[in-house]
Amino acid sequence: MAWTDIIGQDRIKHLLQRMIHEQRLPQAMLFSGMAGTGAVGLAIEFARTSNCIDPIRTTTGIDACGVCRSCAQFRHLGHPNLRLTVALPAGKGGEVESEMKADVIEELKTQILALAEDPYFEIRLPNATQIKIGAIRELKRTLTLSAAQEGGRRVCLIVHADEMTTEASNAFLKTLEEPHEGVTIILTTERPERMLQTITSRCQEVVVPPLGDDLLAEALHRCDGIPEADATLIASFAQGSYTRARSFMNEDMRGYRQDVVDLLRLALKGQSFRIPLTEALAEIAEGKDKVKVEMMLSLLLLWLRDAYSIVKTGTSASIMNVDQRDALEKFAASFGNADYPRVLRAVEHSVRLVHRNVNLTLVLLPLLLDIRRVFHEARSATMRAS
Ligand SMILES: [Zn+2]
Repeated sequence: MAWTDIIGQDRIKHLLQRMIHEQRLPQAMLFSGMAGTGAVGLAIEFARTSNCIDPIRTTTGIDACGVCRSCAQFRHLGHPNLRLTVALPAGKGGEVESEMKADVIEELKTQILALAEDPYFEIRLPNATQIKIGAIRELKRTLTLSAAQEGGRRVCLIVHADEMTTEASNAFLKTLEEPHEGVTIILTTERPERMLQTITSRCQEVVVPPLGDDLLAEALHRCDGIPEADATLIASFAQGSYTRARSFMNEDMRGYRQDVVDLLRLALKGQSFRIPLTEALAEIAEGKDKVKVEMMLSLLLLWLRDAYSIVKTGTSASIMNVDQRDALEKFAASFGNADYPRVLRAVEHSVRLVHRNVNLTLVLLPLLLDIRRVFHEARSATMRAS
């Protein structure tokens, strides 16, 4: 892992590097941001660089050398100065690491190695949703009993810190109040509002923002070998999370888009549209694949937004579906004066309904009939005018 393995977040990288460079290392930091934005990776890189024996200093920052003994230990996240605390499986004996069952220990080791390889890997043990007081007591014990190794800095990383139970939070608060030499505690969370305010106020908060669509698309193309057109499409779904973006990689996005655009065309046909449309919708509803339908509707939304953007600006310069330029331009030319905002609102509303498990046919049929009405009204108005 290296700073460059974490996508974007330049402002935070500079902030953390400056802290190390100037030796102004905080006792505690709270990295808040949703999964897949790089918070855990940034924390590990902070730990790696602050422990590197021979770091490379540049005018703008500081980087771990990658070859010293400390860096070698960080390669598998096995450095004694790095301590990870995560939720452990519920049940007897699962509360503290020293009492964990062999298979859980094995699983945790495997996941830590996966994280070492991939800063966006999310550590999540099966049946583990809480960080219990036992885990915090153990953290406390290691902090009081031993000092940082080899003059480095101890970094204790608590992943999903909002998963601490009330008991654990109170115990942790006490730890936070005691001064520790050479220690930085980093908490990561997607939900800082669920944490004790007395904890968050004692941490320097670092907000890790969602990644821009451009950065995501670029990373999907460069690191995951996704063709550019697909990468753009996937990025627009990912809501700024690289983890989420990668979860869509195996979905047939272009296939879904083709299906939904075909459906739109079917709904806009002349008089004999009803039976083929009902049949097509029945087939989709039969699959009962809520996620697929949600994606199809979101793709329809992107496609219609592109058409609207061409209508509004008169150019296709800023469309998302770049590989559909011809089809979109034709569509925009045919339906130039339609009430696009109304259609877009209707599709957005349908996405929410599908998400809330409303019967798929009950969502899709009224939506497509509504879209048909809006576009046909526009077309007859154009014909009357000409
Ligand atoms: Zn090094």
